[in-house]
Amino acid sequence: MGYFKCEDFTCHSVGVFEGKYRFFQQQNLLTISRINVCKRVSFIKHSFVEEKTIFEKIISRDIPADIVFENDIAVVIRDINPQAPVHVLIIPKKRIDRIEMAQDGDAELLGKLLIMAKDFARSYNLTGFRLVVNNGQQAGETVPHLHIHLLSGRSMAWPPG
Ligand code: 5GP
Repeated sequence: MGYFKCEDFTCHSVGVFEGKYRFFQQQNLLTISRINVCKRVSFIKHSFVEEKTIFEKIISRDIPADIVFENDIAVVIRDINPQAPVHVLIIPKKRIDRIEMAQDGDAELLGKLLIMAKDFARSYNLTGFRLVVNNGQQAGETVPHLHIHLLSGRSMAWPPG
């Protein structure tokens, strides 16, 4: 996987490639096509041995975290910088960089993550809680590994800042 920029006259896309496919945002549509469609692709970052995200290191126990729940598909950890009295992250073990990268085949996994969030809230008797998924830096994403924030224990304003 890596990042690419295409300088084809009609294309000018910037995006992410995985194997022979590339994914990019064009006119608000997620386009997926073979990487070799573009003739003049330059790779901004190209690493076949992709560096692990902080969450993959937590999942593999390379670094410690307060893991409050784990099953075969995901872990639930306490956020290191909590924004509410209860702030946990539901993190799939399968790395999907962000929700815009999810594919049809991920539908069951994504549904299960929401069920896990609901189960966590029920087991901690949380009546009001908020689930947040940040997609992209502008939305506040800092770790490129899809995760759901579950926040609770205080009243929350709307819209979120
Ligand atoms: P994002 O900003 O990508 O939506 O959320 C990433 C979250 O991961 C942030 O709330 C941040 O505090 C949390 N985080 C980042 N590094 C670590 C870490 O090493 N351990 C834990 N437990 N949380 C982390």
